[in-house]
Amino acid sequence: MRAWPEKVKKGPAVPTAFLDRDGTINRDRAGFYITRPSQLKIYAAAPAALRLISAKGYRIVVITNQSGVGRGHMTLAASKAINLRLVRGLRLSGARVDAVYFCPHAPGDKCACRKPAPGLIREAVKDSPADMKRSFVAGDKKSDLLLAEKAGLKGYLVLTGQGKSAAGKPPAYKNLLALARALPDLSRG
Ligand SMILES: [Mg+2]
Ligand SMILES: [Zn+2]
Repeated sequence: MRAWPEKVKKGPAVPTAFLDRDGTINRDRAGFYITRPSQLKIYAAAPAALRLISAKGYRIVVITNQSGVGRGHMTLAASKAINLRLVRGLRLSGARVDAVYFCPHAPGDKCACRKPAPGLIREAVKDSPADMKRSFVAGDKKSDLLLAEKAGLKGYLVLTGQGKSAAGKPPAYKNLLALARALPDLSRG
């Protein structure tokens, strides 16, 4: 489900960074659901990471499971407000997010969009085509890497959030900024 923006403009297929949200861009604790915008804490290194990823020629699309909605911990409206807070908070630091997609379902709902199912990427690509060869998924969980595999994309693990418990699956980066530095620069030529 698209959380932001309301409308999308179709363009040519571009390299896209499909980024996980909790534990990758903002702080995450196992078993704790962010249910209010005030609980969203963007990692200090995240704005610089996003600025660099954009500068290197990637579109930035956030892909996030928000089962707290399906489990009854928050409303759909609250979840959208949190995503909006993320986009605005990053923008204040000069970092651009091009779109946000989320799965509001609970694990038992058997939907097609809960990561590692590739439904959110399919939806995003239908809205705005991605150059799949030069796109990638980054996140702090095995499910993000599995998502990459299912979508036929490169996958990178970041060791923030719950990344440490998913380790042993290289390539892994200290945080999103370390990954951003390691990415190829597609903006030149
Ligand atoms: Mg995560
Ligand atoms: Zn879903």
